[in-house]
Amino acid sequence: MVYKAEYLWLDGNTPSAHLRSKTKVIADGDTPPIWGFDGSSTQQAEGDSSDVVLNPVLTVADPIRGGNNVIVMNETLLPDMSPHPSNTRAACEAASNTYSKYDTWFGIEQEYTFFDGNAPLGWPEGGFPAPQGDYYCAVGSDVIFGRDIVEEHMDACIEAGLHIAGINAEVMPGQWEFQIGPVAAPQVADELWIARWLLSRISENYGVTVSLAAKPVQGDWNGAGAHTNFSTNEMRENYDACIAAAEALGTKTTEHIAAYGAGIEDRLTGLHETASYKDFSYGVSDRGASIRIPWQVARDKKGYIEDRRPNANVDPYMSTRMIIETVCGAASR
Ligand code: ADP
Ligand code: MN
Ligand code: MN
Ligand code: MN
Repeated sequence: MVYKAEYLWLDGNTPSAHLRSKTKVIADGDTPPIWGFDGSSTQQAEGDSSDVVLNPVLTVADPIRGGNNVIVMNETLLPDMSPHPSNTRAACEAASNTYSKYDTWFGIEQEYTFFDGNAPLGWPEGGFPAPQGDYYCAVGSDVIFGRDIVEEHMDACIEAGLHIAGINAEVMPGQWEFQIGPVAAPQVADELWIARWLLSRISENYGVTVSLAAKPVQGDWNGAGAHTNFSTNEMRENYDACIAAAEALGTKTTEHIAAYGAGIEDRLTGLHETASYKDFSYGVSDRGASIRIPWQVARDKKGYIEDRRPNANVDPYMSTRMIIETVCGAASR
């Protein structure tokens, strides 16, 4: 007999990579092998040397097809088996290995917005819903849009064995969040990309699309972020290491903002629970700071901190790599 393996990878789209996938039918007993695709159709190659290699990095149960079918996250390689230029995972894995003694964990809060055609799901035709205030974590069909998809997606993530930590309705109507973690990099990013794929795939069945845009609606509406909570083993033991991590992030603000997703200037305005991308600040319980120290962490004098800057459309291989290099780099000096 055979099973189906859905191979996922990131394309060469700029400024944000998109997910692509195709199916391989594999004999029972065989593991998903190295495979390939036509890079000239994904902005990853010229037509005359178009082969790009798919190298499996994480295989999980496929909750869409069920049975013994699987989803396979891949990194892209050149035919000589070196990382493809669009492969951001290789550098993430290298940073994680370089600083493995810090045992860094990440918990990423993925915000996103459902769209029904050109408007967020649940928004009135050609107009706007009531202003923000009653939507966050709400109940009721006048304020909640898309819950069936959200529930189905959460169950799918659990069935796939992803480390999904929870879900919640967000501040803007039609906007939601799920969290993946705490897990080490690059696995947390592998899992987040699979969870993103599952969300769009399940939404197909509802005729709805998923936007990771940082500011899906201009004006007085919240943007969508990917708050990135992280800890090293030192931070999980002592508060000074948590403060040192926040201080270290403050020394590399330009580099981090550049790696945190397209359109970040439109989202980090200083309004709507953000700090301006031009400023850097950290504080206990402060949702208007770049970095928030959760109140329990200040009380327990150990734990983790939250980088609130990454966009919903961030490549988590890039954001986690930057955090590891900056925070662990400073800690080891
Ligand atoms: P918020 O209060 O900002 O909405 P959430 O509850 O949505 O926070 O997300 C917090 C995330 O932090 C979760 O994914 C959780 O798994 C993660 N987390 C908890 N402890 C740690 C830790 N020690 N290191 C890294 N991440 C952590
Ligand atoms: Mn959250
Ligand atoms: Mn949120
Ligand atoms: Mn948060």
